[in-house]
Amino acid sequence: MIIQRVVLNSRPGKNGVPVAENFRLEESTIADTVQAGQVRVKTLYLSVDPYMRCRMNEDTGSDYLRPWQLSEVADGGGIGVVEESKYDNLAKGDFVTSFTWPWQTVAILDGSLLQKLVPQLVNGRLSYFLGAAGITGLTALLGIREKGHVAAGGNQTMVVSGAAGACGSLAGQIGRLEGCSRVVGIAGTDEKCSILVQEMGFDAAINYKKGDVAKQLRELCPGGVDVYFDNVGGDISDTVISQMNQNSHIILCGQISQYNKDVPYPPPLPPDIEKIQKERNITRERFLVLNYMDKQEASVLQLCQWIQEGKLKVRETVVEGLANIGAAFQSMMNGGNIGKQIVSVSK
Ligand code: NAP
Repeated sequence: MIIQRVVLNSRPGKNGVPVAENFRLEESTIADTVQAGQVRVKTLYLSVDPYMRCRMNEDTGSDYLRPWQLSEVADGGGIGVVEESKYDNLAKGDFVTSFTWPWQTVAILDGSLLQKLVPQLVNGRLSYFLGAAGITGLTALLGIREKGHVAAGGNQTMVVSGAAGACGSLAGQIGRLEGCSRVVGIAGTDEKCSILVQEMGFDAAINYKKGDVAKQLRELCPGGVDVYFDNVGGDISDTVISQMNQNSHIILCGQISQYNKDVPYPPPLPPDIEKIQKERNITRERFLVLNYMDKQEASVLQLCQWIQEGKLKVRETVVEGLANIGAAFQSMMNGGNIGKQIVSVSK
């Protein structure tokens, strides 16, 4: 059977900025028959995520991420529908997902590696299983629960960097749901800041590309910062950490401002900031959502409940067509739109 797929065309280099041309769309073939234990799936949605930048390097710098190989099909979070099944637990028409979904229109996959989805849990919005009800939502929720030390009634102020991104936009809302009394976001455009406040219930948002971030943060967080959900690292994080309180907590979610640089993860703090962190006893432990998969099922149900109740506002940008996945990745790495960036493969 002839299919279309997207392969890694070239590597951007450890210190390079990725571009759409690092990927290539091509025709390929898959077997006409499905073997015992396998299913043939039609791809519906694919996710583009910042961690994929590390997979574009020959050495990803981490033991849990496999590098993509040149001229081989890329993969990541995906959702599809079963067209033919020779795996007992899946039937034609079932919706399924995997973290290692190949970037191709149709694929034959090992049934045991797929998770069945229940569309009703997300009001039929299947793509949410790649975002708010998937790894992104889990990252925000479990990051806060495992590393945030948020206590209901604790009068804590949370700051979120990368606040308009997929994780950040959920993290601020979940911080509030879990008990923070004040939530302030940091994002890259006025429009994103306005959506965070008007639609997602943040108390305030700072455009880090305009004005003095330190001054605005002091004004917006007069009692200092108790919990910092850090998606970006770099100068923004140094500014936030400088205003954190004694015995406060950093949720070290990601460091997207450093991903096009050949630095270790997590990047060490500059000496003056590290001194503040140590003197104020600010926790900054590495957080990896994949280490908490025993909590996946209960946490997804919690996220779905909040979505159904309208307590968690979800934004996503859906780019049409497998051919555009490289451009979607490039756009996402350059700030993208508010919320989760998804590629729809069905049309
Ligand atoms: P995303 O949707 O692309 O959001 C990232 C946000 O960061 C964007 O809204 C972007 O917009 C902002 N940003 C990009 N470059 C920036 C820079 N140089 N300086 C400041 N802000 C910048 O990504 P995501 O899926 O939410 O992921 C967010 C972070 O979580 C990433 O670092 C990712 O690696 C990490 N993550 C970690 C885990 C884990 O297990 N620890 C799991 C999933 C994701 P603006 O610049 O316009 O604000």
